[in-house]
Amino acid sequence: MADGTESESRKLLGRLREAMASDDAGQARLDKITHLIADSMGTEVCSIYLFRDAETLELCATEGLQPESVHQTRLRMGEGLVGRVAKYSKVINTPDAPSAKGFRYMPETGEERFSSFLGIPVQRLGEKLGVLVVQSRDAREFSADEVYALEVVAMVVAEMTELGAFVGEGAALSPLHQQSVLLRGGTGQEGAAEGHVWLHEPRVVVTNPIADDPHRELERLNEAVEELRVGVDKMLEMSQTGDKEQLQVLEAYRMFANSKGWMRRMEEDIARGLSAEAAVEKEQSQARARMEQVNDAYLRERLADLDDLSNRLLRILTGQGSNSGAELPADPILVARNIGPGELLEYGRSLKGIVLEEGSVGSHAAIVARALAIPLVVHTARITTEALNGDHIMVDGDQGIVHLRPDDTVVTAFRDKIAMQADAQERYASIRDRKTVTRDGKELSLVMNAGLMADLPSLDSSGAEGVGLFRTELQFLVRNQMPKRSELVSLYGRVLDAAHGKRVVFRTLDIGSDKVLPYMKPTDEPNPALGWRAIRVGLDKPGVMRMQLQALIRAANGRPLTIMFPFVAQAEEYRMARAEVDKTIERERKLGHVLPETLEVGAMLETPSLAFAPQKFFDDVGFLSIGGNDLKQFFFAADRENERVRRRYDTLNVSFLSLIERIVERCAISGTPLSFCGEDAGRPIEALCLAAMGIRTLSMRPASIGPVKSLLLRSNLDDLRKIISDARHRGEQSVRPAVMDWLKQQS
Ligand code: PEP
Ligand code: MG
Repeated sequence: MADGTESESRKLLGRLREAMASDDAGQARLDKITHLIADSMGTEVCSIYLFRDAETLELCATEGLQPESVHQTRLRMGEGLVGRVAKYSKVINTPDAPSAKGFRYMPETGEERFSSFLGIPVQRLGEKLGVLVVQSRDAREFSADEVYALEVVAMVVAEMTELGAFVGEGAALSPLHQQSVLLRGGTGQEGAAEGHVWLHEPRVVVTNPIADDPHRELERLNEAVEELRVGVDKMLEMSQTGDKEQLQVLEAYRMFANSKGWMRRMEEDIARGLSAEAAVEKEQSQARARMEQVNDAYLRERLADLDDLSNRLLRILTGQGSNSGAELPADPILVARNIGPGELLEYGRSLKGIVLEEGSVGSHAAIVARALAIPLVVHTARITTEALNGDHIMVDGDQGIVHLRPDDTVVTAFRDKIAMQADAQERYASIRDRKTVTRDGKELSLVMNAGLMADLPSLDSSGAEGVGLFRTELQFLVRNQMPKRSELVSLYGRVLDAAHGKRVVFRTLDIGSDKVLPYMKPTDEPNPALGWRAIRVGLDKPGVMRMQLQALIRAANGRPLTIMFPFVAQAEEYRMARAEVDKTIERERKLGHVLPETLEVGAMLETPSLAFAPQKFFDDVGFLSIGGNDLKQFFFAADRENERVRRRYDTLNVSFLSLIERIVERCAISGTPLSFCGEDAGRPIEALCLAAMGIRTLSMRPASIGPVKSLLLRSNLDDLRKIISDARHRGEQSVRPAVMDWLKQQS
């Protein structure tokens, strides 16, 4: 194919299709393919390297290199020219391979005789499958046309690999999606779960990558693109009044759907013999490969839009909807790139676990998963390409690890872990009704965090003494429109009913930053975590705050009511919010509504500034709750959402403990009730140290109450306080090592 004409290309694809349709075993097919490609391209060598595991490429077939090197020559990802093609998903085209950057000499192949080298990644939708190489003796650079032709062939090889065309003999050709894999992500919600994969969006399967009739394929592509354009226009029309960000995405969709470059490339792919769906996939795969290399967030988002659009187009072409007809397994573990909180709630507690390729610790989906106590692993690279519906999967939410198609040893070890956790839960159940009194007689109150109606049953099962933090924004986040006051009255009323008289601390709307309501106009802020959020929004736009306060008062309907304002940074904000409460009470009285029996109004301490507020603030505020998640992020200037920095600073760092100590002292002076409701309250060692610093009320996930109580019951806080003081005096950065030593001696 030295002249690289389209008809030559089609001829080669036709021969490849015959090879694919033959009864040959996998290796014979591969051998035939390398022979056909070398012949058609007019090169002395054609080789196919496939991934043996995620890091190792293996020469699986060759025409022209030493036959003995097949299944012997292996390269790590990034090693040699072939490894570099795979690693960077980039074509390498050089007339003088031995002088090219990264060249590695592999004597067993006899390739030193060949000067020119053209390597093309074999990839499918972001999944790296291997590398296709042609080489020739004469020192020449391959033409753009030849590169293009080989890219089309690589696409077909990728589809064949995916369809299992090369499976058959030898461990080296073991089929895809059958090996066991361990994937690492981040903890979104602790807990361990075993089950079977349920893909939120099952992958599209292309069974016909090659087509004989390019005219027909062009027609199919044009029809499908037309359908896609009409669909996008309709969506745009419908959301003209909606959210700006969604509009931007749709505008980007429309731009791509009308992009001449995108269409032209797909038309060229078809002219060379690919079917319409294979052409879409080829462009999509290349866009995904680019996505991996791009650092610019805006560009990445646009490439992700193109990816979504290609998925829609593929579904139109193949007729495969997101409903594949598969049945939800009995023990489903949801696998998705990302998922919205509403969709997750629809699955509800039927899910045993969740694994997200993207997601983040503070995303709405993570908040819902936490509320439902479903183990969640986020940032799990490659999971959506590796997993197939129904695959056996084990999710370790504690370590942020996912075992896909685990082998027997992993299964046994993992089941032991689950059994141990079940034993522990039984032990915790036995102390559920015990008061939390430490060895040295200090009594603590352990309460729980909640945000959904679904959380309330945990009040009884965990033994929590009440709800220390009810995040009211969840109800706002999981809807498509602002809830009505009457809906809120009914919801808050049901929450109080379910609490059976136990205290519930309702936190008013904490939106902004990462929690953006789908129906609120998004504000473009350079630094949303430090921006217009929580009480700042409430005071500037008091309508929603008043509506919520009214709903809370009416829901209490004569019962005690506790209200807490989030993110108060200075006393004046609390004073203004408190004034709103008083005004609302007055208004409700005039309207003839029953008023709460008692009313407590407090604030969250989430910014270091509030710890240094005038003493009058501590005298005035009804109670304080330390929001450790935010307080820590602002104290250490380390974004709680940023994986790179969020674990960098220890909660047991002496500076942070000194801040806690100061807050405890100031509250003690004014007799202000104080609690701690960040995630650290649910981590036994952190909780123990907070208790040693003088905190007496800890609010945490219900599942943490057992482990935290169990440790507190066994501990002497005075002794621990001394250990902490000594470590501080020794000038240690964190008291953790000293505390761990002490705990070991205790056991
Ligand atoms: C906190 O910041 O610690 C807190 C409990 O609030 P949220 O996690 O909802 O921001
Ligand atoms: Mg907070």
